[in-house]
Amino acid sequence: MSGICKIMGVPFNNINMTEAVGITLINLKERKKTVIYTPNPEMVMAAQKDREFMQVLNSAEILLPDGIGIVKASKFYHNPIKERVAGCDFIEILFGKIKTSINTVYLLGSAEGVAEKAKQRMQRRYRGLTISDTHHGYFKDGSPEEKEVIDEINRLNPEVLLVGLGFPRQEKWIAKHRDHLNSIIIMGVGGSLDVLSGNTRRAPEFYRNHGLEWFYRLITQPSRFKRMLVLPVFMIRAIGERFGAKIEFKGDKVIIKKMDGKNKKRKTAGSSKSKRK
Ligand code: UDP
Repeated sequence: MSGICKIMGVPFNNINMTEAVGITLINLKERKKTVIYTPNPEMVMAAQKDREFMQVLNSAEILLPDGIGIVKASKFYHNPIKERVAGCDFIEILFGKIKTSINTVYLLGSAEGVAEKAKQRMQRRYRGLTISDTHHGYFKDGSPEEKEVIDEINRLNPEVLLVGLGFPRQEKWIAKHRDHLNSIIIMGVGGSLDVLSGNTRRAPEFYRNHGLEWFYRLITQPSRFKRMLVLPVFMIRAIGERFGAKIEFKGDKVIIKKMDGKNKKRKTAGSSKSKRK
């Protein structure tokens, strides 16, 4: 394992896909509870303004770099990230590995019927894979329905739980409930259930191989345009941090602050909380 690359306070595990899947399988075997999040640049930027979200990201055992922007920005930091590890690819490889084991999976999230469709599709694709059940992601936090979902997950006792409630809800939800859930591997998966169900298409290989998946998503889902405006801001901030400056955009003003010792240390710190691998 090659340590941590901390980008704007978010400590990514600098591991490739094979290592990420390998560690997950070992933790599954050793029954070591492991929370996995896959932050992209939008999430890193959201964490700059949301202290709780930042703490939640820091409390995970594994943070995988989802998004070419993270890999590119990491070049400005200590211990640059080796490769992008997209959540969707990770899930598919993991399913391929555990399909003949006794491990079971539960899918939580997305609109009504999507997780169920993903279950059927994945079980056809990975013969032997056991997805015990599914539930949509539009329950209210703290509601009786949420309690029923948690009780049902614990009754079925799936070793792997995928949670697709969108960020930051899914990460905060997992952090709040991780100790009350029996599952060993708990992962925030964003819109991956939509992809696994076949409802949303992933970018064709050309876009993926050239680090242009974000562009494909932009042209196929133009409604994401506003969300994506944070991408250039993210890159500018990463370059700023490289030169010891914190760059902020407020309205039409650009504020450049010299980073203090505490902030500078964030660039090179080797690890964060004790839970991290
Ligand atoms: N979602 C959900 N409950 C919510 C909000 C969102 O289940 O309260 C689902 C939504 O249906 C979608 C996923 O969370 O399947 C978020 O998808 P998005 O494309 O925004 O996530 P990304 O992959 O960009 O992180």
